[in-house]
Amino acid sequence: MKSYDVAVIGSGPGGYVAAIRCAQLGMKTAIIEKYATKGGTCLNVGCIPSKALLDSSHHYEDAVKHFEEHGIDIPGEIKVNLKNMMKRKDSVVEQTTKGIDFLMDKNKIDTYQGVGSFKSKTEVLITPDEGEEETIEAKNIIIATGSKPRTLPGIEIDKERIITSTEALSLQAIPKHLILIGGGVIGLELGQVYRRLGAEVTVVEYMDRIIPTMDQSMSKEMRKVVKKQGMDLKLSHEVKSVERKGKEVVVKAKDKKGNEVEFKGDYCLVSVGRVPFTKGLNPDQAGVEVNDRGQVKVNEKLQTTTDNIYAIGDVIQGAMLAHKAEEEGTFVAEVIAGQKPHIDYNLIPNVVYTWPEVAGVGKTEDQLKEDGVDYKVGEFPMKALGRSRASGDIAGLVKILADKNTDEVLGVHMIGARTADLIAEAVTAMEFRASAEDIARMSHAHPTYAEAVKEAALAATEDRALHI
Ligand code: FAD
Ligand code: NAD
Repeated sequence: MKSYDVAVIGSGPGGYVAAIRCAQLGMKTAIIEKYATKGGTCLNVGCIPSKALLDSSHHYEDAVKHFEEHGIDIPGEIKVNLKNMMKRKDSVVEQTTKGIDFLMDKNKIDTYQGVGSFKSKTEVLITPDEGEEETIEAKNIIIATGSKPRTLPGIEIDKERIITSTEALSLQAIPKHLILIGGGVIGLELGQVYRRLGAEVTVVEYMDRIIPTMDQSMSKEMRKVVKKQGMDLKLSHEVKSVERKGKEVVVKAKDKKGNEVEFKGDYCLVSVGRVPFTKGLNPDQAGVEVNDRGQVKVNEKLQTTTDNIYAIGDVIQGAMLAHKAEEEGTFVAEVIAGQKPHIDYNLIPNVVYTWPEVAGVGKTEDQLKEDGVDYKVGEFPMKALGRSRASGDIAGLVKILADKNTDEVLGVHMIGARTADLIAEAVTAMEFRASAEDIARMSHAHPTYAEAVKEAALAATEDRALHI
């Protein structure tokens, strides 16, 4: 039987990063992945393919709607070639997943294809798609088995017309009318892709706002944006069932007043969250407990109820984000190596890759109110920036929340061009416990979108933004 210091089960951003960090720290490491390609949800059916389609559809929309105003005339009709768009997306995914194979080789990590299941607290049985089963032994085991799409009672995913994000990333035809259940992050990102490509899009959302986990002001601004883009928003509607009738899907929901309403389309994307995945893992066999939400239980060291077994990423509590899983991968490797690492969960940024992009870190305004914190707000609209006017991306704003007494930055929320990248400045500032005035006094290159961060900080400091 092969023997390791660490065996990692699952090769998503949590698992493969954990494996690399373990190898860097001198541990003999193995990684087990049930699929033939590594990279998990994120690389295969999540972050990477969705961003490839968001970028391609954005180019198309620019060509159709905005090239002319930039003085670019394209003779003839501009058409979508969905087959080629999907082919490009597949090739981006392939390059990225191959990159993980390269990294495993480079770090001398043994890789196994197959379903990993516990035989005991130190033994994992690996059942490959082809060939013999094998058991390996490891002193420490990291569970990084991720998550799968959640569905609702009354909805059966048929993977053809009633679909999850996985199928939505590989459609063969552009829907005529796509109905989204859930106006969260997946709904808006993939809804925007197909809206740009010409689909009619209806968003049926349970809450009274879209992207409900982000700051209220971001939801409000995003609502204006997606309405302008032609999405039909049905807020405060609880979906009860979806039925397929040939090529038609019928979504039934209850509105705010309790009335039953019906929406008809040709595709229905169910995007109501994700649930932890432990099927086939056999955690009981190793004494690893799972809570009633299906999450593997962990303590502050991310140690499960069995002390040599750890768990990270989507399969445990917390935000289901690739970079959160990565931080936890590094954290656990360092814990196993006897170090004392730290993760500040308050500083894990949240991003929605629509256009304009939405990003936030730290506390939202509602959370500060709930916690009874005395805070002040500084805001700056993107439309007041020279850079925004030059590119034509004038939607959005930056909002900085700072402690009224100490001026410490407590939350930064932004919507606009490239905010997915701009949020890194806020994370850095907050990591070093910057005050709004610290940010306001830093030089920001002109003309950039980042100037909105400086201006919002000036507004928060003494209500002294310069360009508004
Ligand atoms: P996963 O990536 O789910 O990986 C788990 C791996 O474990 C899988 O490969 C699975 O096959 C394997 N596995 C499971 N059980 C076993 C077993 N018993 N034996 C062997 N292998 C097993 N997050 C972001 O931060 N940014 C984004 O832009 C973003 N976009 C997304 C878009 C979509 C459409 C979706 C669905 C998700 C997106 N996410 C995004 C979320 C992100 O993909 C997840 O948070 C992230 O992949 C979680 O990483 P993980 O390592 O915990 O699990
Ligand atoms: P989500 O939690 O973002 O949104 C789900 C939405 O569905 C919520 O707004 C919720 O109110 C709504 N909903 C729930 N039940 C409903 C019902 N019966 N009727 C109508 N609406 C209902 O989940 P998601 O969009 O499915 O994404 C899943 C996970 O994947 C998220 O946790 C997210 O972190 C991750 N993800 C991240 C990114 C990113 O970082 N950009 C992109 C995609 C996915």
